[in-house]
Amino acid sequence: MKKIVLITGASRGIGAATAVRCAREGYDVALNYHRDAAAAAQVAAQVRALGAQATLLQADVADTAQVLGLFERLDAQLGPQARLTGLVNNAGIVAPRARVEEMSPERWQRVFAVNVMGTMLCAREAVRRMSRAHGGSGGAIVNLSSRAALLGSPGLYVDYAASKAAVETFTVGLAREIATEGVRVNGVRPGIIETDIHADSGMGDELAAAAAGIPMQRLGRAEEVAEAIVWLLSDAASYTTGALLDVTGGR
Ligand code: NAD
Repeated sequence: MKKIVLITGASRGIGAATAVRCAREGYDVALNYHRDAAAAAQVAAQVRALGAQATLLQADVADTAQVLGLFERLDAQLGPQARLTGLVNNAGIVAPRARVEEMSPERWQRVFAVNVMGTMLCAREAVRRMSRAHGGSGGAIVNLSSRAALLGSPGLYVDYAASKAAVETFTVGLAREIATEGVRVNGVRPGIIETDIHADSGMGDELAAAAAGIPMQRLGRAEEVAEAIVWLLSDAASYTTGALLDVTGGR
């Protein structure tokens, strides 16, 4: 049966690289995007050029109704013969660097809404479709954490770091909760990867200097994170669940 993976936040960065890598691996890909329809369409075109099917699904993953609508549209497009086999909870945001005294509750709420609630909402819908307890035939979920979950990101974005720590605990808890139901749940913990997210945090200019603090003396590439994600999705990782895999250049 054809493998189908849903990737959230797939319009750019690690999500886009994962979509292309999954297509190379023979998956059909459902690409969620939030605002950038044109960029998502370009990623879909790359997926199709590799011979895979691409479905575009607009939704804010932090919004319960929009996530339910996304999965309903996906069900309708797949039809009765095809089943979702993988979910990559990639969508994530970081707010501009700040100290805690300068952070508003609204900022914390939005960061947690996208990074934590978005991950939970999509995982919940995927489990409802993939778990053998719900009549599904199994699958795999990969959640994007961050090395920040362990480092705390002082002076930068402790809210983001705390949200990724929540993602990690959720990953381990869900993995163990459904370990006998054919669905593996793992996380990837990227270090500093060259993507546009750093422009959002105001860290863009400091990236080159940050490389000096990494044992491999360079930043990572989105494609290198995609490799880890695709392995965790695959049957090659059949005995791996509840794991957090560092992709950090040794950091
Ligand atoms: P990015 O900003 O390039 O991509 C994030 C994607 O998520 C974008 O396509 C964006 O549109 C989407 N998105 C944001 N809010 C959304 C929402 N509410 N609903 C749906 N989509 C939404 O960043 P990236 O570097 O590719 O990051 C991907 C993931 O990897 C994130 O979870 C991020 O926290 C994590 N990560 C990145 C790094 C890094 O250094 N780049 C390090 C550690 C972890």
